[in-house]
Amino acid sequence: MSLNNTSHPGRPGLDELVPSRYALKVGAIDVMVVSDGVLSLPGTMLGHNADPAVRAAWLEDKFLPPDVLEWALNVVVVRSGGRTILIDIGIGMEFPDLPRAGKLAQRLKAAGIDPASVTDVVLTHMHMDHCGGLLADGVKERLRPDLQIHLAAAEAEFWESPDFSRVSMPPGFPDALRRTGKRFLKEYHSLMRTFENEYEVAPGVVVQRTGGHTPGHSVVRLASGGDRLTFAGDAVFAVGFEHPDWYNGFEHDPEEAARVRVRLLRELAANRESLVATHLSFPSVCHVAVAGDVFRWVPAVWDY
Ligand SMILES: [Zn+2]
Repeated sequence: MSLNNTSHPGRPGLDELVPSRYALKVGAIDVMVVSDGVLSLPGTMLGHNADPAVRAAWLEDKFLPPDVLEWALNVVVVRSGGRTILIDIGIGMEFPDLPRAGKLAQRLKAAGIDPASVTDVVLTHMHMDHCGGLLADGVKERLRPDLQIHLAAAEAEFWESPDFSRVSMPPGFPDALRRTGKRFLKEYHSLMRTFENEYEVAPGVVVQRTGGHTPGHSVVRLASGGDRLTFAGDAVFAVGFEHPDWYNGFEHDPEEAARVRVRLLRELAANRESLVATHLSFPSVCHVAVAGDVFRWVPAVWDY
């Protein structure tokens, strides 16, 4: 038996043997996590300040291979107050060496979401796996002319002249990220709506700047009817629960990124709200538990 896990445009559901979307409610807000696919990256970028033996042991303990890390790439669609909001937009065709990602366009189509119905895009930051989808062929033409793209002013400013001196990325990535950032600013400048610290995109949908991962990195807080969920973008990775002080290779200010991570995880553990993050295993809906300085990822029960 062979499993074909690609979804086929125009034939929603039929060939989706591997689920690529997961819907839930946060009070009156509709939320759908959609997978853009998987990024295959070197295991070292999990924690470039970690002892290699400890890092290898962590991978071993998680039943993961020592060299290649398969990183989920989650995007979220939110509907509130008559607006349809995409939080991040996947990698598009920005890095051909990552052929297992860039599936968002076909998966939105399979989910019955027309790009022309999207009123707002929120970017947690401008790394290519979060903004590249808007640069894919044929996408811009299908968007509404009054689309608003929300991002922190510090993020837009950073990508005018980005500093890569503190990152530890695989070869080829810094150049590709610079190229995508530049192109994005050029293509979408007129649709960008920047904010300083936070902005309410729709009722109960607030984007908040955290900094750290990139200077304008932001998270999205959803709140409705006493229910809460945070989309953490790249503030939290799977390894960050047990080792929040490990520096991820893509963090432009690793010390600040670790402080942001710990602060956010502590808050989520205290108020018991749900967490979704870009690179946690799909659909990534979970809670955060804490014991001392170590956090634990508690996956939500799959509701179907
Ligand atoms: Zn990312």
